[in-house]
Amino acid sequence: MSNSYVTSSSKPTSRWKRFVKSNLLTFLTIVGVFGGTALGLLLKNSGEPWTEREVMYIQYPGDLFLRMLKCLIVPLLVSSITSAIGSLDLSMSKKIAARAIIYYFTTTVSAVILGIILVTTIRPGSGQSAESMKGKAATRQVLTVDTLLDLIRNLFPPNIIQATMFQFRTVLVAPANATDVPLTEYKIKSEFTEGTNVLGMVMFSIVLGACIGKMREAGKPLQAMFETMSEAMMIITSWVIWISPLGVFFLVAAKLLEMASFVEVLGLLGWYFITVIVGLVVHGFGTIPLIFFVCTRKLAYPYIGKMSQVLATAFGTGSSSATMPITIRCLDNLGMDPRVTRFVIPVGATINMDGTALYEAVAAIFIAQLRHIPLSFGHIVAVSVTATAASIGAAGIPQAGLITMVMVLDTVGLPAEDVTIIIAVDWLLDRFRTTINVMCDGLGTILVDILSKKDLESAPINNCDAEPHELVELRHDCNEKE
Ligand code: ASP
Repeated sequence: MSNSYVTSSSKPTSRWKRFVKSNLLTFLTIVGVFGGTALGLLLKNSGEPWTEREVMYIQYPGDLFLRMLKCLIVPLLVSSITSAIGSLDLSMSKKIAARAIIYYFTTTVSAVILGIILVTTIRPGSGQSAESMKGKAATRQVLTVDTLLDLIRNLFPPNIIQATMFQFRTVLVAPANATDVPLTEYKIKSEFTEGTNVLGMVMFSIVLGACIGKMREAGKPLQAMFETMSEAMMIITSWVIWISPLGVFFLVAAKLLEMASFVEVLGLLGWYFITVIVGLVVHGFGTIPLIFFVCTRKLAYPYIGKMSQVLATAFGTGSSSATMPITIRCLDNLGMDPRVTRFVIPVGATINMDGTALYEAVAAIFIAQLRHIPLSFGHIVAVSVTATAASIGAAGIPQAGLITMVMVLDTVGLPAEDVTIIIAVDWLLDRFRTTINVMCDGLGTILVDILSKKDLESAPINNCDAEPHELVELRHDCNEKE
């Protein structure tokens, strides 16, 4: 990439223009969330119940926005991770990866512990019966061990093209004419089910990036290709992002129209709902900023404020993966090193889901309380471990946590169908936990960037002619010419 394409764009007027432009979008997206809520509630209470088709029409513009974002996920994820790792030498990549993984692990475990403390003190499931709350959902019988083995299998996809569309999973089939047979005696079958195997793609990209980094001169053409691809995706993101206020507006309005009577549902699941929300707020605005402060001696809140556009999009879409392009763009604009952003965000959007981990632990113990199942200390430890694994395994898509919850339920001896108990409020909790998931990824990236500053300044740039920030400036220039 030649430097002649990159012009300096730091004139005061253009900086001012950029400031107004980016804040206007943030403001409009937040208006989109509240406006969508208001419209949804207004239409919902306007007489006749809405048919599925009518809701589909209202959701349609939001759906188009979501499809545009989703379309960017695979090319952006692969090119970003590969080019970020390929641009660093192996020891530097290892340092950044280690910092990110320690942060992800610490925050996820603290989220789970917080969830367990809250659910065992508030006891939202005490004195209620599970039967009155069951909803409808297709569930699948699985053993925890199968889910964990599938998680690891998916890290190593047999075919990388197939991994862009399908995931592997084990299916247990009851033997013919058998009743009351334990799950361990079911027949083991395997299948590829629809949905991108993001974990496998992340793994492949890390290995490919490390390999390109090692190839030095010989790896240059491939590195340049992935770098250009990643920047092209970011330029497309900066176009798509202008639709986010409208997209979020219609997605939220349609979701509210779909829901059952909120007052009725909250009456039954109110305490459970409150427990999860309190946990998310304490984790997002207490624990994480504390960890951030301890590591960097800086306050996290100004950064959280600057990420409002990202948080509103996460709330509107209910998907960390779909929000990923917008998160990367926001952190670029905050001046983070692209070599950190392009690695830490895609990996975080895939495996670091603190909100989901907290919710999994709370939900499983809540259901056990409803069923009057006494939980030993061993059970609680098993819930913590499986809730962490379930959050890693959950895809960054709406309500993926509900699917991996089956594994956490299994550890306390509860059947898979019991997820239907919490289904009525799950769509709303999903939006809140996605917002916290994305916020934690963003703050993690800033933390890793601050901690890695010195190392990065002295690190040689492998395989790349352009300085990392030049690539970001190139994008600004492209945007301004529109
Ligand atoms: N929707 C969440 C996310 O994308 C995952 C979940 O908790 O269901 O981060």
